[in-house]
Amino acid sequence: MKVVHVAFECAPIFKTGGLGDVVGALPKYQKELGIESVVVMPGFGWVTQPSTLPGSTVPVWYVNSPYFAKPNPTHDHKIQAPKYAHFAWETLELLKRREFVPDIINCHDWHTGLIAWLIKKTESPFFAKTKLLLTIHNIGYQGNFPKEYLDKQETKIIYELLPPAQKRVAFLKLGIESADYISTVSPNHAAEIRTKKVGFGLGSLIRGKRGKFIGIINGLDYTVWNPHTDPYLFAKFNSRSVDSGKSTNKAALQKELGLKVDPAVPLYGFVARLSWQKGIDLLAPLLPEFIKRRWQLVILGTGDKKYESLLRRFQKKMHKPWLSINFLFDEKMAHTIYGSSDAFIIPSHYEPCGLTQMISMAYGTIPVAAKVGGLKDAISHNKTGILFDQMSPKGLLDALSNAEEIIINTKELSQMRKQMLRQDFSWQKSAREYIKLYRKMLA
Ligand code: ADP
Repeated sequence: MKVVHVAFECAPIFKTGGLGDVVGALPKYQKELGIESVVVMPGFGWVTQPSTLPGSTVPVWYVNSPYFAKPNPTHDHKIQAPKYAHFAWETLELLKRREFVPDIINCHDWHTGLIAWLIKKTESPFFAKTKLLLTIHNIGYQGNFPKEYLDKQETKIIYELLPPAQKRVAFLKLGIESADYISTVSPNHAAEIRTKKVGFGLGSLIRGKRGKFIGIINGLDYTVWNPHTDPYLFAKFNSRSVDSGKSTNKAALQKELGLKVDPAVPLYGFVARLSWQKGIDLLAPLLPEFIKRRWQLVILGTGDKKYESLLRRFQKKMHKPWLSINFLFDEKMAHTIYGSSDAFIIPSHYEPCGLTQMISMAYGTIPVAAKVGGLKDAISHNKTGILFDQMSPKGLLDALSNAEEIIINTKELSQMRKQMLRQDFSWQKSAREYIKLYRKMLA
C-alpha cells in the first residue's frame, strides 16, 4: 500500500510542535509494517533537506514555492493563505511529476485542507483511485481567510476554482467536507470535538461525518524520547536507576539555570507553545505562589507576545533561585527539563492528544494535567500523574500541591516513577490502527 503523508512540519527536519513529532514518527513505523510510506513537506529555504527521514528509509519529498524561501514569523494571514494554498497545489503536482499514485493521502491539519477539495474539484484522473484521510491535530486552527488573499499569481487557479460569490475560504472546513475519512489524535478528543464547546464551530459538520470519523491516539517515538539513550541528559537512566538519575539531572539543571541547587525543593517544568490553549492564564497568576512556597519552575516556550510579556515581569534577579523563564524553541533544553523536573505542568484548556504528558512519564516526571482530551486518555490519576478538572489557578494550585506531597515522599515518588516508566505509548499499536483504517477506506 502506498501512503503519502502531507504536513507542513516533520521532526527532526522541521518542528514547531507535536504535529512535527507525529509526522516524523508515524510514516517510519508504518514502513516497518510493510507500508510504502512517503512524506511530503515544504522545502524551507533555511532548513537542511535530507532525502529520507533520519533513522529510516522513508523518502521525504519537498515542495518548492517562493513562499518557503525565507522564514516569516509574523503569521500574516495575507501570506499564510496563499502559502498553504500553493503548498496543496504543488503537492499534487509533485506526485504527478513523480508518477507516484498513492492509495492513501493522509493530510495533516488545516495547512493541507485544500488537497482533498482540489482532487474532488478538478476530478483529476491521476488520483481517481486515491482515498483521502484528513487527520486533525488541532481543530482550534482552521485557516479561515478572505478569498481575495488567494488572488495571486501562484494561487490564481485555486482562486478561480472557488465559487465567485464566495467571499471567504476555510481550509480545514473544505478538507473535512471533501475527505473520505476524518481522524483526530485521541479517542476522548474525538468525542469532545463533536460538541459545541470543543468543536470550534465545526462540531456539527463533524457530527454529520458519522461513521467516517475516528480518534486514534498518537504514539511516542521512543527512539527520540528515551532517558536511557538521550544524548541531551546530564545523566542517562532507566527504571532501575531512575531515582539517582533524576537527582543528578535535577542538580545539574538547577546549577545550569542559576536556580538554588537543593534536592529538597520541588522542581516543576513547563514546555509549550505560549497560547491560550496551553493554559498560561492558569499558570501565570501562580508565579508569586511558587516564590512564596519555595517551589521552582522552569518555563520554556515561544508564541503569543501577550503571554511573553505577562511572564517577562517575573524574569527578575530576585526571583532567580525559584523561576527560570526562557522564551526559546530549544530541543536540548526541552529534553533536559523532562529529564530533570519532578513534575511537569499541562493546564491545557483543550488538548487533542498532547505528547508532553507521554514524554514526562517516559522520563519519570509526574504530569500534572487538565482532565481533557488525550491527557485524560493517557494519564491514570494518582498512578501515573495528577489530573484536575477545576479550570482555574486555584484548581491548578491544588493539583500542584498534590504533586508536592508525592515529591516530598521519597517512597511514593519512587513508586510512581516506576509506574510511569512502565507505560507503553509506542507507535506500533497506533501505526497499526491507521493501517487498519486505510484498509477500511480502500475496501
Ligand atoms: P502542540 O502540538 O499543541 O504544540 P504537543 O504536546 O502535541 O503540543 O507537542 C509539543 C511538542 O513540542 C513536544 O515535543 C514539546 O517538547 C515541543 N515543544 C513545545 N514548545 C517547545 C519549545 N519552546 N522548545 C522545544 N520544544 C518545544
